[in-house]
Amino acid sequence: MASGLTCGTIVPVIPDFHTHTHFSFDSQALPEEVCRAAVARGMPEVALTDHMDLNPLDGGYGYFRPEAHWQGLQDCRAQLDGRVRVHIGLECGEPHLFREGLSGILAAHEYDVVLGSIHWVGHRPVETAEFFDGLDFQEGIELYLEELACLAEEGDYDILAHPDIIRRAVFHRFGRTDLDWTPYEAPMRRVLRVVAGRGKALEVNTSYRRRGMGPPGPSIQVLRWFREEGGRWVTLGSDAHRPEDVGADFGEALDMVRAAGFEGVAVFRQRRPYRVPI
Ligand SMILES: [Zn+2]
Ligand SMILES: [Zn+2]
Repeated sequence: MASGLTCGTIVPVIPDFHTHTHFSFDSQALPEEVCRAAVARGMPEVALTDHMDLNPLDGGYGYFRPEAHWQGLQDCRAQLDGRVRVHIGLECGEPHLFREGLSGILAAHEYDVVLGSIHWVGHRPVETAEFFDGLDFQEGIELYLEELACLAEEGDYDILAHPDIIRRAVFHRFGRTDLDWTPYEAPMRRVLRVVAGRGKALEVNTSYRRRGMGPPGPSIQVLRWFREEGGRWVTLGSDAHRPEDVGADFGEALDMVRAAGFEGVAVFRQRRPYRVPI
């Protein structure tokens, strides 16, 4: 584990396990640039987790080319050999709904990590104000948590990515940068219990900060619930779509993970978690 000395304290450099390259429909970044950004931040490893969307509603539907992606990232891995360990991952939207398609893609190559994400609940996009059309605040949050529970239980994933992504819709609809999960403790704990029981990881996603939507998430409270439910694995992800965002706000995210009582974060190799002390 690479580390730097700051005022006598060893500060671990945590690998970014959620980044995008031009193999994602919404990124122009060259894989090599993303990896060089990780090297510049002192990361010993980084995961490239491009969108793989099988949901016809999604903007990324039909864009992902598994063979070109695999070969491109193998080339990138070879280029960066010795400087940073490059993990080849995928971010799959609604993996519980597209199990067959996903398993076909996963069978072809030895991926290191799969992020499971909710981007849609039925026809509702979780990242925009329209999510709440015809729903009040509570109905919307409960509907989101029901879908998240289905993903947690039935999806093939290693990391439950941005588990509080509904904050984006909350921000756009209600202008709020906070979301108090206390009224939804029971359904949120149900999700966390499943993730913990299946030995999967929960992601702390830092992209909210860059979007002016508040701190990384989920909150310390949710991370504590995850630990209480038996959760062992937490990862950090910037959700960078540009090289300059790799590892953004990881100091704040790391403080949150520590405050929740975790003494390590997870990295994945060939879909198996390994602990990095913090
Ligand atoms: Zn996502
Ligand atoms: Zn992403």
